Amino acid sequence: MHAAQRLFSHPQYWAECFGTADYLPMSRGEMDQLGWDSCDIIIISGDAYVDHPSFGMAVIGRTWEKQGFRVGIIAQPSWSSKEDFMKLGKPNLFYAVSAGNMDSMINRYTADRKLRHDDAYTPNNEGGKRPDRAVLVYTQRCKEAFSDVPVLVGGIEASLRRIAHYDYWSDKVRRSVLFDSKADLLVYGNAERAVTEIAHRASRGEALKDMLNIRGTASVISELPMDWDIKDSTRIDKPGRVEPMPNPYMYVGEENSDGSSCASQSQVANDQVEEQVIRILPSPGSKQEFILLPSYEKVRNDPVLYAHTSRVLHLETNPANARTLVQKHGDRYLWMNPPAIPLSTEEMDEVFDLPFQRVPHPAYGNARIPAYDMIKFSVNIMRGCFGGCSFCSITEHEGRWIQSRSQDSVIREIEKIRDKTPGFTGTISDLGGPTANMYHLNCKSEEIHAHCRRLSCVYPTICKNLKTDHSATTQLYRRARALPGVKRVMIASGLRYDLAVEDPEYVKELVTHHVGGYLKIAPEHSEDGPLSKMMKPGMGTYDKFKAMFDRFSKEAGKEQYLIPYFIAAHPGTTDEDMMNLALWLKSNGFRADQVQAFYPSPMASATAMYHSERDPLHRVNYKSDKVVIPKGERQRRLHKAFLRYHDPDNWPMLREALERMGKAHLIGYGKKHLVPPTQPANHPSAKKYGSKLNPKGHTGTAHKAKPNLPTGGNRKKAPRKGTVLTQHTGLPPRETGGRIKPKQKRR
Ligand code: SF4
Repeated sequence: MHAAQRLFSHPQYWAECFGTADYLPMSRGEMDQLGWDSCDIIIISGDAYVDHPSFGMAVIGRTWEKQGFRVGIIAQPSWSSKEDFMKLGKPNLFYAVSAGNMDSMINRYTADRKLRHDDAYTPNNEGGKRPDRAVLVYTQRCKEAFSDVPVLVGGIEASLRRIAHYDYWSDKVRRSVLFDSKADLLVYGNAERAVTEIAHRASRGEALKDMLNIRGTASVISELPMDWDIKDSTRIDKPGRVEPMPNPYMYVGEENSDGSSCASQSQVANDQVEEQVIRILPSPGSKQEFILLPSYEKVRNDPVLYAHTSRVLHLETNPANARTLVQKHGDRYLWMNPPAIPLSTEEMDEVFDLPFQRVPHPAYGNARIPAYDMIKFSVNIMRGCFGGCSFCSITEHEGRWIQSRSQDSVIREIEKIRDKTPGFTGTISDLGGPTANMYHLNCKSEEIHAHCRRLSCVYPTICKNLKTDHSATTQLYRRARALPGVKRVMIASGLRYDLAVEDPEYVKELVTHHVGGYLKIAPEHSEDGPLSKMMKPGMGTYDKFKAMFDRFSKEAGKEQYLIPYFIAAHPGTTDEDMMNLALWLKSNGFRADQVQAFYPSPMASATAMYHSERDPLHRVNYKSDKVVIPKGERQRRLHKAFLRYHDPDNWPMLREALERMGKAHLIGYGKKHLVPPTQPANHPSAKKYGSKLNPKGHTGTAHKAKPNLPTGGNRKKAPRKGTVLTQHTGLPPRETGGRIKPKQKRR
């Protein structure tokens, strides 16, 4: 892989003489106390400022500070005018705009596009403190405040909207956020390396608009460079007629016998065969090359080209072999450099050792910030994910390359929490990251890794080149719980259980010492159709893990439960798939207390499926089979209803669906039935649909169904056998996340 300059080896900017701020200043008064007449960089953030390494803008701000720059932060400004954007004065170098830790649309709306009234990243959980499409709005206000100050955009929202993308909320394909916001430069992914280079180059007088060669950034250009080779993406992963030409994405053995590249059934089957050797064909010539994607106008109007573009983007995410991507918008071009070189363990340690206070800025007083409450006693041990789940955007943002901290660095952070974080009583609530068990796992061979373009290291099966020895994680857990003052160390991040079963010693360690009564895992579905579109393993692996979990729990003398997550209405899911999942849930004694349908987040492969009805996990062309997409409120409600088959509110809809599907034999009072034929006598709908006293003691009555609701104020939920979750938003669990009472629903 290309060498990268060590993150903190740049000569510091002259302003380092001002030293380190206790908190990045949020007011002129704080700047005065620091002796600053101005800020070099001003961060605008959609989240409250929490000086903690789990909050992106704190990490970026502290990174710049370490490089010597004076960094101020304006958190959750009023966006109705430019005034708030001017309160720290004019930045010497640039504004840095981020919507916050989440896309503002996901933060503000539910998967059913309903407005949320709360915001976990805001003091007192108050909603309405950030605008829709925050990157666009904030950038516009910055330009109004000081038209000659450049604007850099970054964070999840900018990162996942960096090329033309399907936007679920407006139900259309939008331009790259760089065009709509008119920002000068965009950073994507974990951006320490890119923002460091940008700030130093800006301090030397270079305009952000002219910085065209920084990894992990995207810019707008008017003309294509003459000294680069152009590769048309439609000729290397062809959506249309086939030309006989080498395909650099081709896995050995992938070629069809007739030389065609159609994504036929046989091709799909071929793609799913595990192949270890990947042949990347060198491109002729020595010039640099970029891939020209179909233009915004084309992908907006052509779903097949949209799916093709999404596929090429996902195949170009390995920092060791990704090429520059270019996409025309009108008469200009989006120029997107390859991803940043991942941080080494030493660099990760340096980032996490930055002088975070680990608490919200004092300006918030005693206000509660739920997202902070959720992570204040937890430690992030790594970044990245090689799982490749198609509904998740982590890969598009953080990449598949795992970047891990050293054990010593993690232990130092636990000691800081123990010694400094208010309210710590001895429990570390999580040692994790995007996935609980990928710490220090990567490809066995750097050379193979550098050439690999597989979308997942664990799907359809675990790649033989993947390290699956979890001993680094096991050792870390042992060291953490042996620390004086630490009573318990919990694992709350999602566990990749198909990977965990490869190392029974790890599972035993986890189950014996780190499960607080229940463990969240994510089979996501029981049926092969939707699972293949999610890139998730089959239920056989779940059963294998459950057997291990039960055995080790018993050996430890503990009563512990698995809490599985499921997604309703994911692309590729039929009504029958949901019915079968409901039957599986019933036969395994699970009852969902919260249900959420698939949420098409920007840039995820599953979102490309949702929009295009094609499968970008395999080569796409105009003859490719269409993917079944549960769309529309009625069908999405039905899929959610199957997950809550025990809720009498859903029985009329489920009965009607079962009859329509020719499955009326599943209506009845017996164990083999999914729903009873009548409503409970005491249910509000009994009059409308008829009722009857339950002759066999069916438990699903309005009185008897026990949603897993907290009672008595903020009492914590007790782990309960049979709990199942389906929420995948990145938001902390709600205190009122249970079943909506019929009376509330009518309002
Ligand atoms: S382990 Fe992952 S990166 Fe390595 S060859 Fe296999 S799929 Fe590729």
